[in-house]
Amino acid sequence: MKGLVYILSVCLFTALACSTSLKEQKNGSSFSSEKSMVMPADSTKVVKSDAEWKKMLSPEVYTITRKAGTERAFSGKYWDNHDKGIYSCVCCDLPLFSSATKFESGTGWPSFYQPIEKTAIMVNTDESYGMVRDEVVCRRCDAHLGHVFNDGPKPTGLRYCLNSASLKFKKK
Ligand SMILES: [Zn+2]
Repeated sequence: MKGLVYILSVCLFTALACSTSLKEQKNGSSFSSEKSMVMPADSTKVVKSDAEWKKMLSPEVYTITRKAGTERAFSGKYWDNHDKGIYSCVCCDLPLFSSATKFESGTGWPSFYQPIEKTAIMVNTDESYGMVRDEVVCRRCDAHLGHVFNDGPKPTGLRYCLNSASLKFKKK
């Protein structure tokens, strides 16, 4: 009988311990919130008409993200941002780049050597202005983000040169 009581209390203790730790995870420990920020949880395409984007975005953001514009170097809000956090798409909130892969490119545009997930972005050939460049767009909503070049630092050797106006920064 004594043994049974012992086993029962061990079971009860284990169950309590499990439920507590589950509760902790649910209550938004940094681990779970970080995971949801980093994973492009919903990659369903966001499709809006030109008129809808125009209504939703400021004129500057609309021109850059929907009409492949470029902000003036050293004019944006993130080229000199050194805070830790996540840069998401200004149009659809998809997490795109992390401060962990941001580097000083000296160009006056926020520069990264890799996206959070390969699947967060798409690269298209851009032949405008008499140049052949690789345009970087948001995978979810096709927002123009900037261009990618082959003169970046290790480990990728890539330089994702982006417009601050295409991004929304959330401090970690
Ligand atoms: Zn987007």
